[in-house]
Amino acid sequence: MAGEPQPDCLFCKIVAGEIPATVVRRTEDTIAFRDIHPQAPTHVLVIPRVHHPNAAALAAAEPAVAAELLTEAGEVAAAEGITDYRLIFNTGAGAGQTVFHAHVHLLGGEPLREGLV
Ligand code: 5GP
Ligand code: ZN
Repeated sequence: MAGEPQPDCLFCKIVAGEIPATVVRRTEDTIAFRDIHPQAPTHVLVIPRVHHPNAAALAAAEPAVAAELLTEAGEVAAAEGITDYRLIFNTGAGAGQTVFHAHVHLLGGEPLREGLV
């Protein structure tokens, strides 16, 4: 069922505390933790505690939680002393999504290379 923990989902296991993570912020509905393979000096993932396969599915089912990913990303950036940052939602394997539990990447802490956008 949408929103239910999925037994084979890495991020559901992090939410459950079954896999350790370097958590930087928690709210009732979200967790923010450092990416295990950082692509910038600050690389934090903000995820909902509930399982949805991608950001659009989360926003359709639980828009307030989807919005909270953005406000929490802003809070993490502020806590890290970063004013310039990039938020990325990879959706689909062809776009680089490897974990099919909604998440936003917060990247910053150095000038970011201009990419596709
Ligand atoms: P995606 O490619 O799905 O947009 O992002 C998944 C991210 O999860 C990747 O950047 C990857 O480095 C990160 N990741 C994968 N496994 C782990 C893990 O066990 N712990 C943490 N903290 N991050 C992980
Ligand atoms: Zn999950």
